[in-house]
Amino acid sequence: MATKKLRFNCYYCKKTITLDLDDAFQEKFRKNADYWPYPLIIPHEEHFAIVFLDEDFVERGVNVTRMIFE
Ligand SMILES: [Zn+2]
Repeated sequence: MATKKLRFNCYYCKKTITLDLDDAFQEKFRKNADYWPYPLIIPHEEHFAIVFLDEDFVERGVNVTRMIFE
C-alpha cells in the first residue's frame, strides 16, 4: 500500500485540509469500516468534518458540524 492523500474543503473555515493516510491508518480504517463509503470524523478547530471515504480512500462526500452531544 502507498500513503494516500485526502483533500477536502471545510465549509466553516473555508480552508483546504490535506491529510496523509498512511498504511497503518488504511489498515485500521478497513478493519473498522463495515459499509462503504465509511465516515471519518476529523476534529477541526472548533468544529468537525465528517468525510465519507470509499474503499480506495477517495472522498465521497463531506459534512460539517459544530455540534457534539455531551
Ligand atoms: Zn474547518
